[in-house]
Amino acid sequence: MSESLPGGVVRTDMAMNDGRTIRYYDKVDKGSAARIAVDKRPVEAPAGIGELRLDPLVNEWIAVASHRQHRSFLPPKELCPICPTTSDVLTEIPDSAFSVVVFDNKNPSLNAAPAGWVLPELNGPATTTPAGVGKCEVVVFTDKHDSSLKELSEDQIALVVAAWRDRTKEISKLPNIVQIFPFENRGVEVGVTIPHPHGQIYAYSYLTPRTERMLAVAQAHKTKTGRVLMDDIVSREINDKVRIVAENAHWVAYVPFASRYPYEIHVAPKKRVPDFAELNDEQAAALPSITKEVLSRLDGVYGIPMPYMASWHQAPVALGRDLLGLHLQITSVRRTPDKLKYLAGSESGVGAFVMDMAPEQSAEQLKAVKL
Ligand SMILES: [Zn+2]
Repeated sequence: MSESLPGGVVRTDMAMNDGRTIRYYDKVDKGSAARIAVDKRPVEAPAGIGELRLDPLVNEWIAVASHRQHRSFLPPKELCPICPTTSDVLTEIPDSAFSVVVFDNKNPSLNAAPAGWVLPELNGPATTTPAGVGKCEVVVFTDKHDSSLKELSEDQIALVVAAWRDRTKEISKLPNIVQIFPFENRGVEVGVTIPHPHGQIYAYSYLTPRTERMLAVAQAHKTKTGRVLMDDIVSREINDKVRIVAENAHWVAYVPFASRYPYEIHVAPKKRVPDFAELNDEQAAALPSITKEVLSRLDGVYGIPMPYMASWHQAPVALGRDLLGLHLQITSVRRTPDKLKYLAGSESGVGAFVMDMAPEQSAEQLKAVKL
């Protein structure tokens, strides 16, 4: 089954051996009709579902997915599960070459709802424990194993953006989904188990703690000032100028005024949108170049690949859409060429961050990188 998407992109869906779906994203001119490779691995039973336990001290849901313990962990390159399939190795991706693919995660932390599922009312330690409902997908950025997002061409990154837009739009329509979160972890320092360039999408059946807090703060700001907080934040960074590290007609990248990590960069559209689904074609077209620039600046600081977490914050599916805005938050745990920042007592224990570098100094270093 094929579907045309904006920007001359076509998506082709195929079934996998255990009933999951794999979606190929291709430029129309690149032989997109040819995505017919069949998953030849033995038929397997679909993955199980975990549970959501409430941490009643702070009313936060914890996804307990004990069925995930047999995941691939740093497999050798020739056994990479997200490289194209060859005559010797049958991988998650049946085709022998691809551009960008998105498939349902084999070992999802969150999975489709059993009949009649509802998120229970919060009631301290007496809160009931529902099944771990949600959706987890894997976004493979390229079929080249030894690469990274910033090394891809702008056309290739545009396909990744097309996939994020399409997935956000489609997952938003599924029942029980409250919030959709595309992200990328890069580097063994931040727990990456497969080095092949890829990201993930988690769709939650509950509001996550940071989003819930951002929403409450944005609501209070709106009541007090009549303005949207995200707009005020982006205006402040544009007016201050000193922390801006990259900019184009539609996007601005800055080290936030109160960054939490030595190297933290936010990328926001100049005209606020709630999520990828609402991004217009011009905004989408301007995103690959600034993504590439920002990640290149990050790696350029010490001339070595930086471990990072890239988090795409989006407004919830049906809540606060006029209050929260799509933005990327990149954080790196590296603070010097040979030292990592650990989230120790103050950060892990009580969530109070301490920074030993001024954000302006970090922005200065990122701006000084010769591209
Ligand atoms: Zn690979």
